[in-house]
Parts: sequence; structure tokens; C-alpha cells
Amino acid sequence: MSSTAAGSKQSTVKQRAELALNDEFLRKAVKFTTERLRSGKKSASEEHGNWDDWRERGRQIRLHTIAHLDYYLNLFADNARANGVHIHFAQTDVEAVRIALEIAQRKQAKSVVKSKSMVTEELHLNRALDSIGVEAIETDLGEYIIQLAGETPSHIIIPAIHKNRYQIADLLSAEAGETLAPDTQILAGFVRKKLREKFLEADIGMTGCNFAIAETGSMVLFENEGNARMVTTVPKTQITLMGMERIIPSFEDLEVMATLLPRSATGQKLTVYMSAITGPRRSDDADGPDEMHIIIVDNGRSNQLGDPEFQELLNCIRCGACLNACPVYRHIGGHAYGGTYSGPIGAVLTPALNSNVAEWDDIANASSLCGACYEACPVKIPLHDMLVYLRRRKVESGNGSKLESAGMKGFSAVMGDARRMRSALKIGQFGQKLVVREGGIRLRLGPLKGWNTYRVAPSLPKHTFRDRWKEVDRDAQMKGKPLDPAVQARMEAIVKQRQQGGGHGHGGHA
Ligand code: SF4
Repeated sequence: MSSTAAGSKQSTVKQRAELALNDEFLRKAVKFTTERLRSGKKSASEEHGNWDDWRERGRQIRLHTIAHLDYYLNLFADNARANGVHIHFAQTDVEAVRIALEIAQRKQAKSVVKSKSMVTEELHLNRALDSIGVEAIETDLGEYIIQLAGETPSHIIIPAIHKNRYQIADLLSAEAGETLAPDTQILAGFVRKKLREKFLEADIGMTGCNFAIAETGSMVLFENEGNARMVTTVPKTQITLMGMERIIPSFEDLEVMATLLPRSATGQKLTVYMSAITGPRRSDDADGPDEMHIIIVDNGRSNQLGDPEFQELLNCIRCGACLNACPVYRHIGGHAYGGTYSGPIGAVLTPALNSNVAEWDDIANASSLCGACYEACPVKIPLHDMLVYLRRRKVESGNGSKLESAGMKGFSAVMGDARRMRSALKIGQFGQKLVVREGGIRLRLGPLKGWNTYRVAPSLPKHTFRDRWKEVDRDAQMKGKPLDPAVQARMEAIVKQRQQGGGHGHGGHA
């Protein structure tokens, strides 16, 4: 994928994160909405029961489909063609855009109404349509707002998550030519009226695709506003852009996805509108397009096939739950990641889709590696492992920080030798007396500056594990009885594990 397809990146993730951290409005808006989404997901999954079993079912469906992707893609394409759909395969972003523009030119289109689609964001299709004089109008409320603001989405499912209602009222007032009160009913009412005219005038309706059903050639859309139904029924021509991994084998599999996706995304039991579209309008249908095209986009996805580190990325159903769960995303929002996709999935997907690896190798640092993304993911994608892999790849390719590398070598030399570690601890315990205040190290200097600006670094404890071990051992001897065998065994196991360099379970990569 070209760098344009992934968004332009002129600054580092650190610089962008700093900007976001200093934006009080953004932080409050992102925190408010992600907390609401997380608690909604928690209640919906608990109420559903057996959530982990359903996650496992979802994962198995995705693993199976991606393992047989060529078969299911061909089956889908054959069935869709039999339904009267024009199928196009696009290997690159340039090719996908060219196909969409050719259809628009052939139809002499003046305007296109769009429902929410991350693939069209990835392709920067609005800009391309504009370049040939075709107006592209986003009809999802959040997308419409950020289109007016001239921005890109900062969340996979809530594109305007970083804006509050006062900012939105200002944007819509400018569009309306009059002052609109920052009241959600009034603002949504204005947008509804405005977009209704656009739907009626549009020559083409353009959508993304949540799932494509191989057995019937149907494409399925999940949405809450009803705008995708307008987009797919009013204009005479419909174009759907779908990532090649959107396939699932059957409607039976859709049941599992329809259980996992809305609950994970917004905490809803079901999405408000779920439309399965199987071809253009038939002679006895009341509405629908006369002509329907589906553009199946690769754009770097096939590079992930057969890659042991990244293939599971293709399992993603774009629910956004990993963004809401991520402590880093919740502080900095989506734009700090610099690409089309943000949050933990973006931090892995952007470098995986992009051929210019070095350009995007810093966004894997925008993670605490806590594993919350994996716990939240409805199809169990091990994003935290992929983030560790990306960091390792950066260091091994020689693009890591020299200072960090030297520090790690020193750390390894000390931690790998018991005598050195004991001496270092003693020096540290003595030296830290100069900098410890109220139980923590608050110094904002050198390597501690970044960490201590927002939190307090813990001080070294007065009693180390080894000191405590000795005390326990001595206590037991003084009482003239051996240590409880279970305690003895557990402690010996801990020591052994530490000596072997292990000692962290799942998600504990910090
Ligand atoms: S990685 Fe998982 S949680 Fe994140 S968007 Fe994809 S499916 Fe959802």
C-alpha cells in the first residue's frame, strides 16, 4: 500500500500523542465515549452468558474462512455474479480507485452518497471523486461531521469520537448558515433534513461491507441510523467496496457474527438495521439499484496470508472494542496514530498493510502491552503479541533507539548475574535516597521525564524478594520446623522460573 493510502505521516507518534494529551476537549470527549462503550459491552456480554464460548466460535469461523480464503472468495464472486452483480478485483489502492472512478464517469455521476466505510477512507476515495468533479457526501452522522471538519475518522465505529456537542454545533451552524443550539435533537434534525435532499439527488450509492456471505453472494451491512438503507435503495447505481477478508461462509456463521459484533462495538444486543443485499433490483422489487458493483480490495491484505505473525489480523471484524479497551487510545484518541486505522488494531494493521515498514515502525510503541485489547477482542486476535513482534522487528532491523539498546544491554548484564544484581540493588537503594519523595521517584529528568510527567515511578523496596526469602527461611529454622512444603515448592518454583528468564503469564509483557 502506498503511504497515501495509509494516511500521511509527517510527525512521530510521540509528537502527535503529546499534542493529543494537551487537548483537554479531546481527552474528555474520548474518555466519556470509550467508557460508555466499554461498560455497554461488559453488560451485554455478561447478560448474554458463555461469552468466551461465543468468542471461540467467532475465532474458529474466522480462522477457517481465512485458511480457505481463495475458495470462499471465488464462491462469493460466482454467486454474486449469478445474482446480477458486477464483481471487480482490485489488487492495489490505485486500481480500486480507478475502477470506482470509471463507474462514476460512465454513469456521468454528479454526486455520490456514502454510508460509513473504512475501506474508502483507506483509499482516500472522497478526494479522488472530488478530483473528477463528483461530490461525495458522507451520510453517517459521525462521518458527516468529520467531513465538514475536513478531518479523518478517529475511531473505527465512532468517527467523531473526539468532538463534543458544542464543537459539533459550531460545525453544523456554519453549514446551516444560522446558529443551531448544541442540542442533539436539533443537530440530528438538521442533518436528517439536509441529507434527505442529497439522497434524492445522488446518482450513485456507495457502501462498505461488514460481511460477505459466500454461499449466497450476499453482502451484509450493520448500521444504526438507516442511512445505509437509503444509500442502497434510492440511487440507481450502487458500488460496494469490501476488503477481501470480509467473507464468511454462510448465513449460519452470520448468526455468530451478529451476536459478537454489535455487543463488542456498542454494547447493543443487535444492530438497529441489518441489511443483506443479494443483487440489484429485480423486476418485481419496489426499490433498489438497477446496477450493482462490488469492488473486492486487496491493497496489502494478501501479504498477511501465510505470515505466521500477522495472518490473524485478517480475522478482524472491525468492531472497535480493542480501541475502547486500550489505556493508550483512551488518552490520546485516534489521530495520534497517524494512519486510517487507530488503536491497537491500527498500530498493527497499518505497518502490516504498508510496504514502507520503516515509515510506520514507531506506532507499535503506542501501547502499554497490557493485553486489554486481546481480552476485548471478540475473535481473540493476539494484538499484544503482534505489537511485541513489531517492536522486536524494529530493533533487529537497526532502527531502534541506540540509547535504549545500550540500556537494555546493561540491564541484561546486571539481571543475568546474581552478584551484579545484588550490588546494583544496593547502590540503587542507597542512591535513590536523593530522589525519593513521598514514597516515589518524581524526578522529571533524562529518561524519567516522559514517565514522571504523568505518573510517579516506584522506588526500589527496602526489602527485596531475596531478603524476604531469607527471613522466611530463618523464621522457619528458628521455630525448629521446616517450611510448609507447599510454600517451599512454590517459592522454589518462582526462583527457578526467574533464573530461567520466564515468569510472565499471558498479557504480561510489560
Ligand atoms: S482487533 Fe478485535 S477488537 Fe479490535 S477491531 Fe478487530 S475484531 Fe474488534
